[in-house]
Amino acid sequence: AAANGGGDSGGSFDIGLPGAVEGKVVTRFPPEPSGYLHIGHAKAALLNQYFADMYKGKLLVRFDDTNPSKEKDEFVENIMKDIADLGLRYDRLTYTSDYFPQLLELGEKLIRAGIMYADDTPVEQMREQRMKSIESACRGRSVEENLRIWEEMKAGSEVGLANAMRFKMDMKSVNGTMRDPVAFRCNLSHHWRTGNKYKVYPTYDCACPFVDAVEGVTHALRTSEYRDREEQYYWILSAYQKIWPGLPNVHIWDYSRLNFVNTVLSKRKLTWFVETGRVEGWNDPRMPTVQGILRRGMRIEALKEFIISQGASKNITFQEWDKIWTINKKLIDPVCPRHTAVEEEGKVLLTLEDGPAESEVVVVPRHKKYPPAGKKAVTRARQLWIEQVDAATLKEGEEVTLMEWGNAIIKTITRDPATGAVTALSGSLNLDGDVKKTRLKLTWLAAVPQCEVVQLQLVDFDYLINKKKVEEDDNFMDLVNNATRFEKLAIGDPNMRTLQKGDILQLERKGYYIVDEPYGVKGAGRPIVLFCIPDGRTK
Ligand code: ATP
Ligand code: MG
Ligand code: MG
Repeated sequence: AAANGGGDSGGSFDIGLPGAVEGKVVTRFPPEPSGYLHIGHAKAALLNQYFADMYKGKLLVRFDDTNPSKEKDEFVENIMKDIADLGLRYDRLTYTSDYFPQLLELGEKLIRAGIMYADDTPVEQMREQRMKSIESACRGRSVEENLRIWEEMKAGSEVGLANAMRFKMDMKSVNGTMRDPVAFRCNLSHHWRTGNKYKVYPTYDCACPFVDAVEGVTHALRTSEYRDREEQYYWILSAYQKIWPGLPNVHIWDYSRLNFVNTVLSKRKLTWFVETGRVEGWNDPRMPTVQGILRRGMRIEALKEFIISQGASKNITFQEWDKIWTINKKLIDPVCPRHTAVEEEGKVLLTLEDGPAESEVVVVPRHKKYPPAGKKAVTRARQLWIEQVDAATLKEGEEVTLMEWGNAIIKTITRDPATGAVTALSGSLNLDGDVKKTRLKLTWLAAVPQCEVVQLQLVDFDYLINKKKVEEDDNFMDLVNNATRFEKLAIGDPNMRTLQKGDILQLERKGYYIVDEPYGVKGAGRPIVLFCIPDGRTK
């Protein structure tokens, strides 16, 4: 346990790194540019930052780009954006592909040292042999033959493509990752950075220990499900140290992977949602990506606070989304402006017999306890729109409170005889009435042309996955939720025209929303699009 820094602890990463020396620690965050960053990557990034800061050391960001089939410029650009949004402060940005020349040199040295051999056993059969600890017939190939095949691999020839280079490790090991893992394989795909220059690429297992050591990484943080690979990492690093003088040691330190309920956090699975059109893209508000959750209304400070609260626990648990959204709500509630919306469907006209003949405008704060939120105009009139859900609960003679105005008494209620829905209401003002004594605080909007209401589209979302805890052997495609986007039309107060993309607001008595499409940006006639921000209370 000591090598891993001890057991569980809640609250903060109060456990230190083994062998850490102040001013000398170097950590790294190594994303593979095969997708956008998700919330698990955010944990990895912030944790590496945390330890670099704790020891006044350095943080490196390294694009781990060893698989040309999966990597794209689009992903590099968006990961850079995500890193900026996360506020990551790194000392150096590097690419594993920078080291391709050295890695190929290393490959040749490994062959000459007799610790790497070429194997043309078909993939499936190789997998089975590894499972059953069966040595490949190729394990005994001579150095000369391996060198000859290495040249074929570098050229991407047919012979090269049929072979993979494997570490001659330990086929009898109880640890499956030690049974001669693949070090290099051919790939003729275009590499996003080096183009078609290379035909042979190192695997992650082969490249990572070398690049970590060369870059002077002192502590390589990995998620604990890779613990089996620790032995492999150290074997590979010490093999390199024997043939590549001066390579320093690296400590592996593991932490628990972040999982969320009703969520998959794997780029392969998230790619599927994007490619099948089940979401708009990687930044869809239903995606657990950094861009997705920010677009849904998460504040970066809330994300950071949540991750720090995870502490250094090594337990792999499923986190509740409610927990992180509750943290978020505490940050947005004290500052976000308040606005009014009335749902379109079934909205009811309330006529106040003694209401003002001419509409009147009063100016009130957008947030009563937070003046920087600004002010807004409220139009009062004889006729008001109120929501069907409120109207349906009213009784004749009942006293209610009109928010930002005062009390009123409901006089008559007209209903549709067929459906029972309220179709019209009448009442009169009772401005001396006690607002503390009414059952209902009504949201309302003046139903006169002077009050230029805006059209709103209110959008709510559900989880992409309908099973709470997705397990290893579940096929996630069987667990896909079919209805995950819900839209409602509403009218909103005229002040909402000034809201900008990304602004967060509260709709009185409804909840928190973030502006996804502001007024007028995509032409006239389109509603303002507001996404509902979860507030941590399970519906
Ligand atoms: P994915 O399964 O999403 O493809 P990955 O590990 O293959 O994840 P990388 O881009 O290689 O993707 O990950 C970059 C870093 O983020 C690695 O150090 C990895 O261990 C870490 N990481 C990935 N997923 C999580 C997670 N759910 N929780 C914590 N750290 C994670
Ligand atoms: Mg990876
Ligand atoms: Mg993965």
